[in-house]
Amino acid sequence: MVKKIILLGATGSIGVQTTDIIREHPEEFKLVGFSAGRNMELARKFIKEFHPEIVCVQNEQDAVVLRGEFPRTAFVSGNSGLIETAVFDADVLVNAVIGSVGLEPTLEAIKLGRTIAIANKETLVTAGHLVMENAKRYGAPILPVDSEHSALFQSLNGEKIEQATKLILTASGGSFRDSTRDELKNVTVKEALNHPNWSMGAKITIDSATMVNKGLEVIEANVLFNFDYDDIEVLLHRESIIHSMVEFRDTSVMAQLGTPDMRVPIQYALTYPERLERPNAKRLNLAEIGKLHFQQMDYERFHALQLAFDAGRIGGTMTTVLNAANEQAVAMFLNEEIKFLQIEEMIERAMDAHKPTSTPDLETILHVDSETRKSVRNMLK
Ligand code: NDP
Ligand code: MG
Repeated sequence: MVKKIILLGATGSIGVQTTDIIREHPEEFKLVGFSAGRNMELARKFIKEFHPEIVCVQNEQDAVVLRGEFPRTAFVSGNSGLIETAVFDADVLVNAVIGSVGLEPTLEAIKLGRTIAIANKETLVTAGHLVMENAKRYGAPILPVDSEHSALFQSLNGEKIEQATKLILTASGGSFRDSTRDELKNVTVKEALNHPNWSMGAKITIDSATMVNKGLEVIEANVLFNFDYDDIEVLLHRESIIHSMVEFRDTSVMAQLGTPDMRVPIQYALTYPERLERPNAKRLNLAEIGKLHFQQMDYERFHALQLAFDAGRIGGTMTTVLNAANEQAVAMFLNEEIKFLQIEEMIERAMDAHKPTSTPDLETILHVDSETRKSVRNMLK
């Protein structure tokens, strides 16, 4: 049976790689709908190629133009359009938008019991408990796309989760893994956008350089697998070959390895529990690689990772604040309004100023999210 797929964030890094998988397996998948932000050139290309039934774009003006060009597709726009697209009849929702804008569409699709393949980690960080509680209530499977979480998920396959003792997330270290804190003071946007192992969207590449990305992933792991923060460890691993590991109570460790290629975890989330061939993909050749390196994380050097553990342990709306402050600060860094180290400074200030609410509802989360963004913007004044 062909799986019908809705892809939010089709024009982004994960989105485009998801279309590669759909294109490689036309007998398995059909793209019935997608969302784009502002990239109309790519949106048009995908409409011509996949003939989707519904497409969401960020601006209504773009939707008006597209309606004229493609009369057989329904065009919607903005945040309400994103929700309309997310709940459109399909088998799987792939959420590959960036930022907490992905939260409400995900929750609405979950209420329909949809299978959710989730790359959009900000949604899990900002409101993990709402996503997981609703997924349980409505029987919606949540399948991780993030490479570390896919690795953890695969390492836990067929195991009893209560026999797992530790989740070990690997971290490449990002663009500045060999720089001292002093050297970070004056790094440029261009330098920060230069990731050693992965080619990704701008926001997550900056998150990798600040190590906020690994921090978000620690929270994502806590949310997805329900492990205490004391039982989640981060290990620096430069080569990004081991994507993460699970330790069990008999001291056994299961790991998932592969070349750094996001199409592998994307495809696994689409085919689980099956696996499909990838005839043209590069295979892992460990003899060629020769050595793999591991190193203890330095939480003073990577202060933002410490902040994420702190936010996770406090819980409630504190992770919403961490995420929103980071989204706002990264946007300002990319805009060259602030310096690199100010990203974590702003996150810390926002967290210090916040009085968290435990188990917040959606309204509280959306309110804290927008207030935090506002307060971070005001820090510039
Ligand atoms: P990109 O920035 O490359 O793409 C983001 C997508 O979201 C684009 O389609 C963009 O549209 C769209 N978009 C942006 N803002 C909005 C908005 N306000 N409303 C609606 N749509 C919007 O991101 P990535 O693909 O890198 O990342 C997507 C998610 O996956 C993130 O949560 C990231 O953390 C996670 N992830 C990414 C990995 C990667 O390798 N890239 C690895 C693991 C996780 P447009 O471009 O048309 O404007
Ligand atoms: Mg990752």
